[in-house]
Amino acid sequence: MTGIRELSQWRSLTRDGDSRARYQRMLQRADRDIASMLEIDVEKGFSSVLGQNSPHLQGIPFSVKDNIALSGFSFTCGSKILEPLVSPYHAGAVQKLLSAGAVPVGKANMDEFGMGSSTENSAFTVTRNPWDLDRVPGGSSGGSAASVAAGLVPFSLGSDTGGSVRQPAAFCGIYGCKPTYGRVSRYGLAAYASSLETIGILSADISMMEQVFHCISGTDERDQTTWEAVPAYQDEQGSPTAAVISDLEGMDPEIRRGYERTLEAMKSLGWKITEVSLKSLKYAMPAFYTIACAEASSNLARYTGIRYGMRHSTSAAQEEMVRMTREEGFSAEVKLRVLLGTYVLRSGFQDQYYLKAQKIRTRMKQEFDMMFSQADVLLMPVYPVQAFKAGDEGMTPMQQKVADRYTLPANLAGLPAVSFPAGIESGLPVGMQLLGPSCSEERLFSLIRKLSEVIPPPELPVRLGAEEEADD
Ligand code: GLN
Repeated sequence: MTGIRELSQWRSLTRDGDSRARYQRMLQRADRDIASMLEIDVEKGFSSVLGQNSPHLQGIPFSVKDNIALSGFSFTCGSKILEPLVSPYHAGAVQKLLSAGAVPVGKANMDEFGMGSSTENSAFTVTRNPWDLDRVPGGSSGGSAASVAAGLVPFSLGSDTGGSVRQPAAFCGIYGCKPTYGRVSRYGLAAYASSLETIGILSADISMMEQVFHCISGTDERDQTTWEAVPAYQDEQGSPTAAVISDLEGMDPEIRRGYERTLEAMKSLGWKITEVSLKSLKYAMPAFYTIACAEASSNLARYTGIRYGMRHSTSAAQEEMVRMTREEGFSAEVKLRVLLGTYVLRSGFQDQYYLKAQKIRTRMKQEFDMMFSQADVLLMPVYPVQAFKAGDEGMTPMQQKVADRYTLPANLAGLPAVSFPAGIESGLPVGMQLLGPSCSEERLFSLIRKLSEVIPPPELPVRLGAEEEADD
């Protein structure tokens, strides 16, 4: 796997002066088979990508969360029920990346159907955090985050239903982008909670993230929720106004320090800071899980063992076969959510749960509209704690759900949010996020780039193939 290891040095190379020449030398040494498999054209590919504003992604390797369709690769969604499935088609976002010359090198592990915050809910294996192998990489796009933070790929596609791109990015010290709902096609994204989720991007480099965003965004006739968005904002000229929530509670001291550091950085850049309140925030968790479970119970009804995926080997009648397939194929967490979702949708119960949750969602949207008439962006932490320990020493599933509270609002309101590294505390990364009004991704990228001049992104912890670099 020399070739992959050579590629892993991508990030340090893009920062160095004579990177292209060094990359060429490395590539010459790299395993020829892998180089040709990746179809890397060093002359055309990397020379164009190493320029700051190149629109092309020629030859750039990337990983893909296993709930996004990549033809010829597995499409398990982290679930036993889809273990035998190989995707016969590409997702819309993947197709666009392929047309730009980017090269998918593998599928990334995830919590089953995106349900989780640690990647421990995968039916296949536990993914570790490259910063500390005793800790989780976050989730549900934990495999994507770890593959970027370990230096295997410069970017990865993930999905964000309630924070699943931003939280693992924060745990692994990289950037995570959850686009505006409808700006990136969901065609080929296996549905968990369709009204909340988007395909997102994880990268250690904000410019690369921006290039990938421009590549994958836009309409797709196979996803009728996409539209040709007019970017609301371009590069910032004047000083923006950043909102902060006045009574934000529950952050660990390390996260609090990262938050204060970011506030100081904003002030040093001349940004105006204004305090706001977001009253619906305390209802975000129950509203999100009510809606997400309701949608999941409907979306996951298609996994019956009849058309694709695993089928329980039984001679029983069809109804019994479906029951046994689902019994064996889904984990306890997935079953819990399907049951909860079915419960809140029962006739007679809808007013009590589902409709209440939708009212909270509407209220939250209204509060954001108000907020963004006074401020350009909102600063929030991504998660109240840093990457936690794997296994029994870590957080319980319920604690994880409660801790999702800072990431859920962007999904409930359909707004863009970009998470970024805001320093190291106790040897681990701290992640913050900027939220903005609909279609303000360009502004978020530009503001985060400015912030990164004051708080630079951390050196990645694992430099695979570093011994080869030492030979140069
Ligand atoms: N942690 C949340 C959940 O378990 C959100 C996950 C996601 O964004 N896919 O549902």
